[in-house]
Amino acid sequence: MERLVVLGGGESGVGTGILGKQKGYEVFVSDKGEIKEEYKKVLEHFEIEWEEKQHTEAKILNANLVMKSPGIPDSVPLVKNLLENGIPVISEIEFASKYTDATLIGITGSNGKTTTTMLTNHLLKEDGLHVGMAGNIGDSYAKMVAENDFSEYVLEISSFQLDGIRDFKPKIAIITNITPDHLDRYEYQFENYIASKFRIVMNQDKNDYLIYDADDEVIINWLKEHPVQSKLVPFSLKREQKWGAWLDKNIIRINIEPKTLKMSTDFLALEGQHNVKNAMAASLASLLVNVRKETISQSIQSFQGAPHRLEKVLKINHVEYVNDSKATNINATYFALEGIKKPIVWIVGGVDKGNDYNELMPLVREKVKAIICLGADNSKLIEAFGNVVEPLVETFSMEEAIKVAYKVAERGDAVLLSPACASFDLFENYEDRGNQFKAAIKKL
Ligand code: ADP
Repeated sequence: MERLVVLGGGESGVGTGILGKQKGYEVFVSDKGEIKEEYKKVLEHFEIEWEEKQHTEAKILNANLVMKSPGIPDSVPLVKNLLENGIPVISEIEFASKYTDATLIGITGSNGKTTTTMLTNHLLKEDGLHVGMAGNIGDSYAKMVAENDFSEYVLEISSFQLDGIRDFKPKIAIITNITPDHLDRYEYQFENYIASKFRIVMNQDKNDYLIYDADDEVIINWLKEHPVQSKLVPFSLKREQKWGAWLDKNIIRINIEPKTLKMSTDFLALEGQHNVKNAMAASLASLLVNVRKETISQSIQSFQGAPHRLEKVLKINHVEYVNDSKATNINATYFALEGIKKPIVWIVGGVDKGNDYNELMPLVREKVKAIICLGADNSKLIEAFGNVVEPLVETFSMEEAIKVAYKVAERGDAVLLSPACASFDLFENYEDRGNQFKAAIKKL
């Protein structure tokens, strides 16, 4: 019997365990931290052996195959050891895809993955397709493959997941954009991170598609130097595309002959230029899997977006409060600052993943009337904006930040939480940060 060892007993690890067991593997799940009670119950129900708070090498190094949770870097000694012993270490996306014949739509990029994934899923579902949504979102993909028989999967895929693929071959790949992020995991080399994103097309052939942002120079330059097999499907806000999607004033035009589609952006429920891009990407993918045009133009209007992404929370004294807690890098915050048409009281800060704040300078000068730093260490922000925006205030809890924002903001302003940083210095995760933001506002 082949032995499958799963490193990490979270959503993807437990799901992989279930699928592995179903496919006849002897499965062992090992987590260095604690495994949640609910997951332990599931493992026990499926009679899967597990351990927590340790990795017992003797039970791991005898694996035929290892599935590693995307949170564990390749650089940890145990993983290095596995690789040196020639044991394949793969990701959940790789493992689960072996066991489904569904049409796969894989979505990666630095920003916009979740929004594009949810929108694509919505469009396919509204057209009556039997679609599953998984990856870095919701339930485990492997578990869905074990328990369902979907005809399409829409998968949100991080670069860490892509690092662990070998044969994964989506029919449709989407790269929403590429901007510096997670460089700590890529030896601080942007090139490594770009290469990782492009692994999504490495097994594609001429019958598969790559949908991508043609306004993104990083993507364009990479494609020039690294031609791909896939059929290219660009989208652009700036230029007409021969075969793809583009914006013509306020009309989204799509031409992927023999199919064409025209939609006004006025009816998009999602605001902001970046969401026009996400809408183009999702519409292109939908057309390519034969969703009807009418479904796309109608259903795109009813999609409300995901929480913590430019989410309008409340208006108090004519001040709008917007929760963009999911903005954990410069590019996401750029689109938030650009998209909001009011003077902005900006709450920013947290764990900086290598930000260059200069990229935001023109927008900050133009729109930001006050900066509220919210992080354990705000020195980089103070250095960047100390002489640019006044007032600039340091705070160390959400409640404090909101109190200051409430004082500073005037009629017609927006208070924007768009941190450009990760959250784990003061919060559990970005959801916790966004939820605390909303709770503090409701208390005002
Ligand atoms: P991801 O799953 O890639 O992190 P999300 O859809 O969760 O992407 O959005 C993350 C952040 O990026 C949010 O602040 C959102 O407003 C912003 N965003 C969404 N789409 C884009 C895009 N196409 N380009 C830049 N920023 C975007």
